[in-house]
Amino acid sequence: MSGEKRDVLAELGLGDLRPYLRSIGDKDRIFPKAHRIEVVFLVRAANYLLLRTEGAGTINMTTLEYSGGAMEVPVIQPQKLMAVTRRQMLQLLREYRDSLDEVSKRWLVQEVIGKAKDLGFKKVSEEWNCTIQPPLAEFGEKATDIGMDGFCPHCTIFGAALTEQHNEKFGGLSIGIKTRVRFDPAFATQRRITPETHNKVTEGHLSMTGQALFSEVHVEPGTVFIGRAELVDLTEPELVATLYSLATLRELGGRSGIYGTVRVEILGVKAGKYASTTAYDLAAENAGKGYEEVKKNLKERLEKLGFTPVDNSKLLAAVDHKDPNGLFKDLWRSSIDFAEKMVKWVEELKGGGQKGSGKKSRSKKAEPEESEEE
Ligand SMILES: [Zn+2]
Repeated sequence: MSGEKRDVLAELGLGDLRPYLRSIGDKDRIFPKAHRIEVVFLVRAANYLLLRTEGAGTINMTTLEYSGGAMEVPVIQPQKLMAVTRRQMLQLLREYRDSLDEVSKRWLVQEVIGKAKDLGFKKVSEEWNCTIQPPLAEFGEKATDIGMDGFCPHCTIFGAALTEQHNEKFGGLSIGIKTRVRFDPAFATQRRITPETHNKVTEGHLSMTGQALFSEVHVEPGTVFIGRAELVDLTEPELVATLYSLATLRELGGRSGIYGTVRVEILGVKAGKYASTTAYDLAAENAGKGYEEVKKNLKERLEKLGFTPVDNSKLLAAVDHKDPNGLFKDLWRSSIDFAEKMVKWVEELKGGGQKGSGKKSRSKKAEPEESEEE
């Protein structure tokens, strides 16, 4: 209403990313384009980090091969990075919801929740609250997503598995929203871990057996990890909110208290058709080096690779996630638009006799209705 909206991308000097972003209202926005935005960031342990995996197949240590040899270093798995980033966004969305004034609350209830209801979504309450349930919650494997509403920003950006339990218009179809934020594993540049392994923590069911059913790595404070993410097909508010969620991340562990405090620093972003680097390559180039040196090296390296540097303090200052008319309002606009396109696609799919790939969306009266006006 105030009219003057902040142009966060321009403020950050990231206006060049615009051609690689999708727009709200684009009828084809649920279909991918071959564009990606790479983000390189550092995760620094501010306290002891407890990296724990249960079950086989996931590792917390990996070997970094570099010109001078090989080194075993801690690694943060992509699933972990994604889980904590989406949790952070969810938290920010809750804070946005809780700070709404009457007018904005009405907007959310009418224009978002009401629209979601019209679109057939079932988890619609005026007190919006999307939740991530622990895996295997109640009804077997699909129960993972049961608490998710399927239309909010964190569902539409980070993905959800939806059935008619979530949306009455889905019929027998299961719709998987794929994540549009994909992480590399984040590799530490140094082997800074405590030698002890705590396999007999008396917590959780698994440890009760007395067996080492999970492995633990205690990473020392100050350890720096190099991470990279690829963001695909995001709209402008989605991009900024995702960067902001990443930059405001403060915890990695599920366990509260002394473990898991981190600081995240985004170093640069780059848009293009192809990936220009990997977290592994960047970590290997910096094997054995500490924070200051890693940061300096990476800045130079990223510049050569064509990345645009990101000023984290500017990013934090440019976004006010509690502003009722700020970025998070646009984020909501973006997600309900995505949800609408998805439901329309499902309806076409059902009406069109299941043509298979679903690649083509028949555009009948498809006028992209611009929802950007105030
Ligand atoms: Zn949701």
